[in-house]
Amino acid sequence: MSTARDHFARRLRGIMPVRFDEPLARHTSFRIGGPADVYVQARTLDQAIAAVRAAWDLELPVLVIGGGSNLLVLDGGVRGVVIEMRARHVEGWPTGRLPASAPERLETFSGTIHSSSALDDDRRDDGAIEVVAEAGAPLAALGRKTALQGLAGLEWAVDVPGTVGGAVVNNAGAHGGDIAGSISAALLLPPDGDPVWQPVERLGLAYRTSMLKAAEVSQPRPLVLGAKFVLRRGDPLTLRAAVARYSQHRRATQPVGACAGSMFKNPPEQAAGWYIERAEAKGLQVGAVRVSDLHGNFMLNLGGATAADVLALVTLVQEKVRSRFGVSLELEIQVVGEAAR
Ligand SMILES: Cc1cc2nc3c(=O)[nH]c(=O)nc-3n(C[C@H](O)[C@H](O)[C@H](O)COP(=O)(O)OP(=O)(O)OC[C@H]3O[C@@H](n4cnc5c(N)ncnc54)[C@H](O)[C@@H]3O)c2cc1C
Repeated sequence: MSTARDHFARRLRGIMPVRFDEPLARHTSFRIGGPADVYVQARTLDQAIAAVRAAWDLELPVLVIGGGSNLLVLDGGVRGVVIEMRARHVEGWPTGRLPASAPERLETFSGTIHSSSALDDDRRDDGAIEVVAEAGAPLAALGRKTALQGLAGLEWAVDVPGTVGGAVVNNAGAHGGDIAGSISAALLLPPDGDPVWQPVERLGLAYRTSMLKAAEVSQPRPLVLGAKFVLRRGDPLTLRAAVARYSQHRRATQPVGACAGSMFKNPPEQAAGWYIERAEAKGLQVGAVRVSDLHGNFMLNLGGATAADVLALVTLVQEKVRSRFGVSLELEIQVVGEAAR
């Protein structure tokens, strides 16, 4: 590994800094996770493409992360290269008026997805607005900013942590909205080709998953470079009220602290939290991880928790719910990396 990672660092010399043995607890919302053998932060799409192509050429395993807000990284860390996507440029146009500088297929690529006037200047039409966001753009800020500018369609995302890329992979959603209903296409870099816009119907988006997520983790997976959101003009007062209502709802129902959001998928009949509460699993604790007293589907890292603690608590909660209701709770969060040796 040390030779391959040295080769990787040499390939990226002058392009971006490369860190070895970077603790991933620093890069996940759970504040848990062992070291990545190699770690880079891509602040532009060019950097992301250079990093992932270098890793693919050297046959190093790659894990791309956004906000790390849906991940449990195991205590032994991640072998290979972790690329944190930070390219976060956002622009928008009235539908059908994408400038000529926005080709369907991007072969040579520099800086931002498009070069045109900013979102604020483009609200001339009554029609839809296409907003193109690079994958590292924070989804919550995008939802809030567009809603407060009078654009409807992404207000459901006002408080969903993480990036546009992670949201596409997970088909993130809240308050009745989701990515599947908000984007028209995602810009993907496949392992064997150039960036290409993939229409939303071909992403296999379903409840908190997609084809991009379902692909084998050990195999090279497409990198999400960006997404095209289709928004509509809405009533600014109504949108402002929706933003306030969604934020207030979250404050009232979800705990504050280091966590990964909902731990388990909701089974068809009831929310996971409903089962957890009735199985008397709220407040259960293993090491420094505790099932939230406010919301049963949240686990909080009280400080210094390990991934092993989380997995032990997950098993405990699953057993309690199974023995009480005969229901198997399936993890919503994604577990990556290796257990501590
Ligand atoms: C407090 C809290 C509340 C939450 N509430 C919600 C909610 O209401 N609704 C909801 O859906 N989720 C919620 N989540 C979960 C999380 O916010 C979403 O799943 C989010 O979309 C993950 O985005 P991320 O950038 O953090 O992805 P990460 O956790 O970094 O990664 C998730 C997956 O996407 C992949 N990935 C990330 N970026 C890329 C990329 N550019 N290219 C290719 N693959 C990529 C990763 O490899 C991984 O497989 C919540 C989480 C927290 C902590």
